[in-house]
Amino acid sequence: MATKYIKINHEKYGYDVLALFQSFYPEDNHQLVFPGCREQITKEAEEVGFFALLNYEDGDNAPVEVSFGDGSIYRYPGGLGSDLKEGFGNYLYDVLSKKTGVTLPWGTLNGVRPTKIAYKGLLEGKSDEEIEEIYLKDRKASSEKAKLAIEIAKREKRILERLDLSDGYSLYIGIPFCPTTCLYCSFTSYPYSVYKKEVDNYLNALIKELEFVAGMRKENPDTIYIGGGTPTTLDAERLERLLSKVEELFDLDRVFEFTVEAGRADSITEEKLKVLKAHKVTRISINPQTFNQETLDFIGRKASVTQFAQVWPIARKLGFDNINMDIILGLPGENEPEVRKTIEKVLEYRPDSLTVHSLAIKRASKLASWIIQNGKSTINNSDGLMKIASDGAKKLGLVPYYLYRQKNMSGNLENVGFSEEGKEGIYNILIMEELQDIIACGAGTVSKRVFYEDGTIRKLTRCENVKEVPMYCEKIDEMIDRKRKLFLE
Ligand code: SF4
Repeated sequence: MATKYIKINHEKYGYDVLALFQSFYPEDNHQLVFPGCREQITKEAEEVGFFALLNYEDGDNAPVEVSFGDGSIYRYPGGLGSDLKEGFGNYLYDVLSKKTGVTLPWGTLNGVRPTKIAYKGLLEGKSDEEIEEIYLKDRKASSEKAKLAIEIAKREKRILERLDLSDGYSLYIGIPFCPTTCLYCSFTSYPYSVYKKEVDNYLNALIKELEFVAGMRKENPDTIYIGGGTPTTLDAERLERLLSKVEELFDLDRVFEFTVEAGRADSITEEKLKVLKAHKVTRISINPQTFNQETLDFIGRKASVTQFAQVWPIARKLGFDNINMDIILGLPGENEPEVRKTIEKVLEYRPDSLTVHSLAIKRASKLASWIIQNGKSTINNSDGLMKIASDGAKKLGLVPYYLYRQKNMSGNLENVGFSEEGKEGIYNILIMEELQDIIACGAGTVSKRVFYEDGTIRKLTRCENVKEVPMYCEKIDEMIDRKRKLFLE
């Protein structure tokens, strides 16, 4: 993966500029160089030469010059304005689109939550046409993506109608352990074998945090989500300890949804599933990611296709009638035939919801290092592959209900959750639309407080828990204090 250096004379909107370059040239790694940048980076860039230079003249309405290493120069006369999306962002998009011959499905939208525009538009009483116009004109997105965002926002709005968004909350519980680490992972996840001795300490700290939350908020959470990592990495006894505590602290008969991300088939046993069932878990996720064993071996995901085939029927037999399945498109070496094979298997298993991810290559992941070592990758995702997946979902009667994007997603596409009506993951919508307080417990989790005023969101604040397990255990009182400050002050 070659590094392309982009020099800007002002840090303003640096991230958006970088994201646009990265989207148009996904096979390169882009590095910004700006005044005050680390000396070593500046030196390296000067040795290699700059791919592009952006020169903002002083003042919001002053011109911006964009010149490329190949000698081409573009001059935007209108200035940056108060927001990159106004004017210059669209101009830079057009320049890069012309140079590469590519258009991006989501245009200049590089954030995680592209449906937020549609949701806000609906709340403001805008028509579909007016909302679509915002996507097309202001953000250069395609009509197809605009329509998808509007369809999803409408569904989300309907699903959330029964929740008390302004006064209610949802609870997230993080279990940051996995049996092993997948090549593409950059979540807060630690191999269980290495951290085995810490697990009981971790649960002690986590329970202390949960007890604080239950005391702090008198109302019951609307949804509870246990994620990770892989929560079912815990053995049945420890799962039992955690879930009994959750049941003791919160009224599980009054939650709209209680999800446990079982995740990897190699972490699931009948005994653990029975524990989940006994503690009123309403929704689980069992994620094959792909049904091609060769790919699973390559990405270091030790959960095999055979293990999946063993645990899925057990979950159904035990009465789990809301099971989500996650798959990833754009995995190394996978193309149309492999995706078709995966979707055929999905059709056989008939999940109640299907989340289709587009592989995001995170810098911290082992996969990113693999790509650097092996040069050009065979990672590929496209609208065509997404269509195979969404056609599969359609055959099962599943409709799109939430959507999010990540940085460096293959094909510059999105992750979409499809679901049978009534089996949607409500927590997934809440985390994406940021409409309700999320109180998150556990290492590496982030809590959010949403402030409402006269029915509209005034501001959003957050606090984080430390990522490292030993530090989380040691500093649990400080983590609790952060929550106290966030939610009570
Ligand atoms: S199962 Fe998920 S969280 Fe665990 S290592 Fe793999 S990608 Fe990371």
